[in-house]
Amino acid sequence: MKSSLSTKLKDRAEGQCELCASNAATYAYAVSPKGNEAIENEVAVCDTCLTLIETGAKDTHWNCLAGSIWNTEPSVQVLSYRILYGMKDQEWANEILSSVELDETVVTWAESIFQVAAKHVDSNGTELENGDTIVLTQQLNVKGASFMAPKGTIVRKIRLVPDNAEQIEGKINNDTIVILTKFVKKSV
Ligand SMILES: [Zn+2]
Repeated sequence: MKSSLSTKLKDRAEGQCELCASNAATYAYAVSPKGNEAIENEVAVCDTCLTLIETGAKDTHWNCLAGSIWNTEPSVQVLSYRILYGMKDQEWANEILSSVELDETVVTWAESIFQVAAKHVDSNGTELENGDTIVLTQQLNVKGASFMAPKGTIVRKIRLVPDNAEQIEGKINNDTIVILTKFVKKSV
């Protein structure tokens, strides 16, 4: 998981922590399931960030992830995404997650550690995947929002909820909402 900082990684990070950018980088953190064999798998982290990762603390220090999630290195994006995902119950973390547009390969890597117990399928039993476009098969009343999404609404770039095969997430009117898979149809 953690190893010493190579010169190459230190150069890429310009000596700074790639998560918070406010402290000097001290270690190379490999983003699982990949190992320390290539710097593309690693993130240069400082002592503070490393301690928080290892303890799983939901600390306000992680506000820094609002910046690092836009890093051009997939490994930095994946690590930022995972840490934020673990704090999804907090409004600010959820906001960062829904404001960012990540590559499918980044999301797949990020979510590869979450156990997917069952497959996500639509109302016809067709398997759903991250990034799919779906159509609502019935009107949805969106909790906490002042609008209803009519039947036939198209939702692009859905995300599968990793720990719940009955739920996906998608953006409607710029709000990211949870949608039940039984009320959607995959669009081809
Ligand atoms: Zn840091």
